[in-house]
Formats: sequence, C-alpha cells, structure tokens
Amino acid sequence: MADVTFGWSEQHLMVRQALRQFMEKELKPIVWDLEDGKVLPYEFARKLANTFGLAELVRGMWARRKEKKAAGDREAAAGEIAAFRDPAMSALLVIEMCRYSPGAALAFGASLGLCGQTILSKGTDDQIERFAIPVLTAEKVGCWGLTEPEAGSDAFSMRTTARLDGDYYILNGSKTLITNAPYADTFVVYARMKSPTPDNAAREAIHAFILERGMPGLSTGQPFKKMGMHASPTGEIFLSDVRVPRANLLGGKEKDPSRDQAVGVLMGERTAMPSMCLGIVERLLDECVRYSKERKQFGRPIAEFQLVQQKIANLFVTREIIEMYVHKMIWMQQNGIKSMKEASAAKLYCGRATVEAGLDAVQVFGGAGYIRDAGVEMMVRDAKLFTIGGGTDEIQIGWIARELLKD
Ligand SMILES: Cc1cc2nc3c(=O)[nH]c(=O)nc-3n(C[C@H](O)[C@H](O)[C@H](O)COP(=O)(O)OP(=O)(O)OC[C@H]3O[C@@H](n4cnc5c(N)ncnc54)[C@H](O)[C@@H]3O)c2cc1C
Repeated sequence: MADVTFGWSEQHLMVRQALRQFMEKELKPIVWDLEDGKVLPYEFARKLANTFGLAELVRGMWARRKEKKAAGDREAAAGEIAAFRDPAMSALLVIEMCRYSPGAALAFGASLGLCGQTILSKGTDDQIERFAIPVLTAEKVGCWGLTEPEAGSDAFSMRTTARLDGDYYILNGSKTLITNAPYADTFVVYARMKSPTPDNAAREAIHAFILERGMPGLSTGQPFKKMGMHASPTGEIFLSDVRVPRANLLGGKEKDPSRDQAVGVLMGERTAMPSMCLGIVERLLDECVRYSKERKQFGRPIAEFQLVQQKIANLFVTREIIEMYVHKMIWMQQNGIKSMKEASAAKLYCGRATVEAGLDAVQVFGGAGYIRDAGVEMMVRDAKLFTIGGGTDEIQIGWIARELLKD
C-alpha cells in the first residue's frame, strides 16, 4: 500500500521526484568520495543550483527588486525577497539531499542558508549584490562564524574584537568548528565592538562583519577529522589585525548590532533541522525494509522475526512524527511565526529520535550495519551532530524551560 502523502502539494511532489532522481544520479555515486574528502561538496552544490534554476531564481529576484526600488516602490521591492523564500521547497531539497549525504546538505545549508541568507536578510543592497548573490547562486562558498574556542554554548561571551580605525575595522580573534571555513570565499564573522572610549556600552555590542578570503591577516585551518558529517569540511578561522572596510559591517549601522540577528539565525537552524532528520530516517526505513526481506537467517527472512518488525515499526513511527514536525516548521515560517520554544523542541526531539533510529537500523543490519558499505552507520554518526550543532540538547532544554516558566 502506498504511503499517505500529507502536507505537500502536487507541485511539491513533482519537484520532490525530480530532486530524488537528481540525487540518485549526481549525489549517490560520489557519497564515499565525499566521505573520504576526495571530492568537495561545492561542485555538486553548483550543479544542483543550476539544474533546479536556483541560481536563475536568485538573479531574477535581485533584478526585479532593483527595478522596483528604482521605481520608488519600496514595499514591492521588499516583497521580492520575502517571495523568494519558499520554506517547503527548501525542506524538500534538504530531505532529498540527506537521504544520501547529510554532510553535503550541511555544507550546502551553511553556505546558502547561514551565510547567504544572513547577508540577504540584514545586508545593505551593496552587500547583498557583492556577497550574498554569489553565495546564494552557489558560485562562491560561504560560512557563518559564531563559535569560538572559549565561547561555544555561551556564544555571546566571544573574545573576537573589532576596533574602528579610520575607514576600517580591525578584527582580532579566532573562530572554531565552522562549517565550510577551510574552503570558504565569504565569511560572516561575529565580533565584539571595542570602543576607543571604553565606557560607551553600545560600542561593546556584538556585530557581524563580512570578510573575504585573501584579506591580509585572515587565515583558516585544515579541515578537522570528525566523528561524522565527513562530507562537510569544518575548521577554524584566525583573525590577526584583519582590516575590514567599514562598508563590510553587516547592515552598515553601528547603532544596529547583530546579536538578535544571530539568535534568529540559530532559530532558523533549529527550524530546518527536522528536514535533515526526515531525509535520514526515510532512507533508513527504506533500507531496513529492503534488507530485512532479503536477509535470511534460521531459514527465513529476518523480516519475519517480531523483534526486527518492532524496530521497523518504530522507525516508521519516528518518520511520521518527524514529518509532522517538518510541516509545523514550514507552516510557522510561511506564517512568519517565530518561537524559540517550538524550534528548540523540534530540534531536540528530531535530533535524538534520529540517532535512536540510526542505531536501530544498524541493529537490523547486524554486522553488515557496522560496516561502512551498507550506509547506515554513516547516518548515525552524521545524526549525532543534531544533538550538538546549532545549540546542544542541553541548551535547547534550557530555552524551552525558560520560555515555559517565564511570567
Ligand atoms: C560539525 C560541526 C559543525 C559546526 N558548524 C558551525 C558553524 O558553521 N558555525 C558556528 O558558529 N558553529 C558551528 N558549530 C559549533 C556548534 O554550534 C557548537 O559546537 C555548539 O554550540 C556547542 O558548543 P561547544 O562545542 O563549545 O560545547 P560546550 O559549550 O563546551 O558544551 C560542552 C557540554 O556542556 C554542556 N553545557 C554547556 N552549557 C551548559 C548549560 N548552561 N547547561 C547545561 N549544559 C551545558 C553542553 O550541552 C555540552 O554537553 C559546529 C559544530 C560542529 C560539531
């Protein structure tokens, strides 16, 4: 009996089918090369953006916005950016990518979502044109740097500083665990503004700056060797007296700091995570159903053993709940509803449930599941990031409890 498809339009289902075919043709064959670092995910990202008209869509949106702004219609110009964001299509893209490579999806999301969308949301027109468009079309690779060696969960205790010096800000400090940092062209980096007059509290605020590879004093480390998400390079950013033009202060206004905007990005990351989880769990379920019918022990397919059936049924239940979360997150975005409690709950539940589902899938495969070729152990290692990145589980619990318990 076919699955009930809920919450997707006919058009979504058509796009989903096309995405599935594309991933099977273009992503599946390079999964192990991505895992081993023999191939980087960026060429694939470019192919994806071009095949599905994303690059064209971005350029079209920007051209129409400029036209409307030139004609004096500011409201219509702003509407172009709002209309460009389609949470359902973004979710489908992520789900289908995660069926084969959650790491490639992470690299894609960190570049276009975290870096590109941050500049698109808060940047000046000049910043959008120069920095966001090339990242959103996947021509350039972007990264988003908040975390520091001494400032992880407590991200806003950051030590990276920015000091105004004529027409430049001088940035010093370092960032770590940054997705795409080793290969990024464009960097969104958060820093604490240092005032020449230390009693000026407003000047101590957190601001975001747009940096480019090649700026003297900016360097990046080698990709870290990680537990999972091997397809997405992660690394450090070092800033030593980097002279950043004043025009690269995100949004262009010193009186408008970026701390709330960074919290908004984290909320967006948490909102998007259920889609990554859904792609993984759907794939695990498909693989477990197939394998349990093929694999015979004690003269019967293992699918006939009730303890195997229990795991497969649990995988299906997990898939169902995660899919409902995906639709809730899409609905919230479509309706402009921002709630950290809801986003944190979605990330907390889906992340944990996906790790559990992955371990169950390895168990269904037995020894074969412990071997890389089956593809299920990679999914568990990749899914573990969901309980850490974008704020750990403990931090999500803190957000949920704080919002529930405030007066
Ligand atoms: C693969 C990967 C990619 C990443 N990509 C990016 C990126 O692109 N950009 C970026 O800015 N960051 C990125 N990160 C960083 C990520 O956001 C941080 O790892 C995360 O926020 C946790 O910070 P931390 O690692 O310093 O852990 P810590 O903050 O040191 O936490 C250690 C432990 O202490 C617990 N803990 C801390 N504070 C509390 C508290 N108040 N109450 C209870 N428990 C607490 C934590 O939950 C955790 O269990 C990435 C991380 C990884 C692993």
